[in-house]
Amino acid sequence: APAPPPAGHLFSDPAEIEALRRNLLAWYDKCKRDLPWRTLAATETDADRRAYAVWVSEIMLQQTQVATVIDYYDRWMQKWPTLQALAQASLEEVNELWAGLGYYSRGKRLQEAARKVVSELAGQMPRTAEDLQKLLPGVGRYTAGAIASISYGQATGVVDGNVIRVLCRLRCIGADSSSPAVIDRLWDMANALVDRSRPGDFNQALMELGATMCVPKAPLCGECPVKQHCRARSRKLFGKPAPVPDVEDCGVGGCPLCPPAAEPWDSSLGVTNFPRKAAKKQPRAVRTATCVLERRGCHGAPEYLIVQRPSSGLLAGLWEFPSLPLAQGLQEEKQREALAGHLQAWTGRPVAARSLQLIGEVVHIFSHIHQTYVVYSLPLDGDVTLDHALSPSRWVTEEEFNASAVSTAMKKVL
Ligand code: SF4
Repeated sequence: APAPPPAGHLFSDPAEIEALRRNLLAWYDKCKRDLPWRTLAATETDADRRAYAVWVSEIMLQQTQVATVIDYYDRWMQKWPTLQALAQASLEEVNELWAGLGYYSRGKRLQEAARKVVSELAGQMPRTAEDLQKLLPGVGRYTAGAIASISYGQATGVVDGNVIRVLCRLRCIGADSSSPAVIDRLWDMANALVDRSRPGDFNQALMELGATMCVPKAPLCGECPVKQHCRARSRKLFGKPAPVPDVEDCGVGGCPLCPPAAEPWDSSLGVTNFPRKAAKKQPRAVRTATCVLERRGCHGAPEYLIVQRPSSGLLAGLWEFPSLPLAQGLQEEKQREALAGHLQAWTGRPVAARSLQLIGEVVHIFSHIHQTYVVYSLPLDGDVTLDHALSPSRWVTEEEFNASAVSTAMKKVL
């Protein structure tokens, strides 16, 4: 078994833990942002309805900024105010509402989980973090902890990106913060710190601190409610040797939580020395030819052909302009020929490569893919009979396009 981390990285003094909880909660009560899911969680008396609201907000907030989520959350809760209502929605409706929020599998999994609660769990949400994680698809350790602590009062911690940053700074943890060994320690720490009487508020306070004060680039240490517990700040202010010798000493002995010896403390970075992450892998570059097929609709307005993507994989079930992945380094002439051949299946007649007009390129970054769409346009005369033996397809006006389950990338293409 790996050696336990030196005591300097942990919270071991009960008086210090108590003071940290008190200071953090007092700050949160005074300074917390007004967010719709918080208002609902605070006013809703039915615990399952609270849990549903927290769940929806937490899933939307994964990888997405609060400011973007608010509008989506409000529309979602208006359309499906309860788990039971969501369970009856179609995937198409879910994708339409989710369009533009990214990471589309989140919405799909949320709806699948709602159906499971209704059909297999008699409409009752699991009430502990362990059961939530075990029984609900798409609910990981973090989301389970958030729902259980905020909605059901379970004294369990949470660790998200904000909490990682705060804890790594509080305790000078400079080993790779995405490594399983460090993540396990941070969960231990979050579970030890969480306030027993107000676990939901404590968890939200820790995340709020990371989101508004202990931010990645320029943290507001002078105003921080837990600055007296912060070892990174002590180190910045007092330099080396710091008044926490057990932390300072442990770097030499191969401590599993200290920065690697090859990356020592950089005094120009101050507290932002923490957390540290291993270098990210470069996103994969992908090129795709896409064609906006356009015709005049019955009222003279332009209409565009969109087709549905497969029901699994990236952007599952979303609609897009007919598209074709391109081999690396393919010349433009060959791209046109390949795309023309692909379009023939949709139009039901030969498409001349030279009739495709090259419009330009649209770049869109997915989490792990650097996607370039090479955009062509093709106006069509006369009617086109769609072959429904292929993927589902339909003609839409611009307004209908914008209301459809299409990705942000396709909106950029149009
Ligand atoms: Fe973060 Fe600064 Fe507060 Fe430490 S003192 S927790 S680095 S904001």
